[in-house]
Amino acid sequence: MLGLMQQQSLLISALIEFANRHHADGEVVSRRVEGDIHRYTWADVANRSRKVANALDRLKLAHGDRVATIAWNGYRHLELYFGVSGSGRVLHTLNPRLHPDQVVWIANHAEDQVVCFDMTFLPLVQAVQARCTSVKHWVALCDKDKLPANSGISNLLSYEDLLAGESGTYDWPDLDENTASSMCYTSGTTGHPKAALYSHRSTLLHAYAAALPDVMCISARDSILPVVPMFHVNAWGIPYSAAMTGSKLVFPGPGMDGKSVYELIEAEKVTFAAGVPTVWQMLLGHMKPANLRFSTLKRTVIGGSACPPAMIDSFRDDFGVDVLHAWGMTEMSPLGTLCTLKNKHLELPAEAQMKLRMKQGRSIFGVDMKIVNEAGKELPHDGKTYGDLLVKGPWIIREYFKQEGPSPLVEGWFPTGDVATIDEDGFMQITDRSKDVIKSGGEWISSIDIENIAMAHPAVAMAACIGMAHPKWDERPIVCVVKKSDSTLTSQELLKFYEGKTAKWQIPDDVVFVEAIPLGATGKMLKTKLREQLAGYQLPSI
Ligand code: AMP
Repeated sequence: MLGLMQQQSLLISALIEFANRHHADGEVVSRRVEGDIHRYTWADVANRSRKVANALDRLKLAHGDRVATIAWNGYRHLELYFGVSGSGRVLHTLNPRLHPDQVVWIANHAEDQVVCFDMTFLPLVQAVQARCTSVKHWVALCDKDKLPANSGISNLLSYEDLLAGESGTYDWPDLDENTASSMCYTSGTTGHPKAALYSHRSTLLHAYAAALPDVMCISARDSILPVVPMFHVNAWGIPYSAAMTGSKLVFPGPGMDGKSVYELIEAEKVTFAAGVPTVWQMLLGHMKPANLRFSTLKRTVIGGSACPPAMIDSFRDDFGVDVLHAWGMTEMSPLGTLCTLKNKHLELPAEAQMKLRMKQGRSIFGVDMKIVNEAGKELPHDGKTYGDLLVKGPWIIREYFKQEGPSPLVEGWFPTGDVATIDEDGFMQITDRSKDVIKSGGEWISSIDIENIAMAHPAVAMAACIGMAHPKWDERPIVCVVKKSDSTLTSQELLKFYEGKTAKWQIPDDVVFVEAIPLGATGKMLKTKLREQLAGYQLPSI
């Protein structure tokens, strides 16, 4: 027997209309690329999102067409989040930290029709635009009089000029809730980057879940600073949950340094902030020497990389701020686990509580997790046995955009490439990564790419790239190299060879020459062994 409830699609346009109707005067504050602070309300976001939708109609974009952004966290980016997806197009958030060649590859693969960019990224756009063959319009997120005179970019429009001619009313389409709404590429595995293609339904379910008390606990009383970039997996879903709940949003724009973040937290009475560990390291690095304190900040979600225990301690003991350690993936919209304690844990001594807080956390309803051994057999949740972590749920990808070859799923489960334990209370802890990647400052570096560049040098016989723990960036790559006999190659020469072949921050910190790289029976490089051989190795201070 069917239930007798109304059928209504879960749509992103409904979120922004709800925000307009129920918390129209809720504030959205942005530090702009222009240098000043911009403030307006959720009613303004809704009004301008509708203008975005009208402008895309005028540009003759079809449903499903991709509209890319290369932008900081700010109000215009927020309007694009709602206007692009709400009107049936797909918002593609591009990562400006990638090498221009990677940006070109991704934009062409996504077949972006329009690219909206902050003026900070004009040099990047100038470097890539001639090679982005599907792009019909480049839209600079600025006033018309800020457009550069001789940019060399054909079809360059001003965002403000584009919106100025549009109406603030729009008849949002009644889409199927499974329609694609946004996409994000991840370079987390080998080969070319791959994209997760989110739907309206997955985005709304994730937005409900993200706001739950044991997840990010997002409410109308919060002032939220998403430092996590809006080009990283939907800024962890915060823009959507904020529209749902009417929270105030505070956007840092390009100002991610400790001083700028601190000043914004204080000025805008931020209660909750979210970002990767590196950002918080810079913030604490600014606050400690100056003996500064937070007046309003109560909690922060730290994820994307393992959060150092000292950071959790310092936030709580020195600043009275609760750290919620979080884990997720681009393929998971991204939230999978949040580390919040259960009632029974509140009685535990501080040290035992700390042990729990360091874990990546408990599953959110909507994310099933299991760990398996090499044969795919499920392993016990005893907090000790570790295995490959697999996940399943309505906001986890089924396949990648333009998937080539078989589905990535294993009997319906998505393999995360993380190795983890799960304890009796469901707390998951990552112990290792089976994927061959390094995460530095929250951004991926493919070790295979780094090895391939080294191997292209005529004096290199073999190369293995591994990540080394780094106090600021979490991990930094080094490359271990076996030289061809009679070669006189130096570290400096090889590091110079990397220049221009990959983004600057992806170039290894060091080259270590070794006699041989340990290999397994199948010829695979044994990086764990290599790491053991390098015990005691110190990264050069750069
Ligand atoms: P991304 O798709 O860029 O969000 O990266 C997802 C990957 O980042 C995960 O599969 C993990 O390897 C890593 N990661 C994310 N959050 C954490 C965390 N809290 N601790 C350790 N690793 C993490």
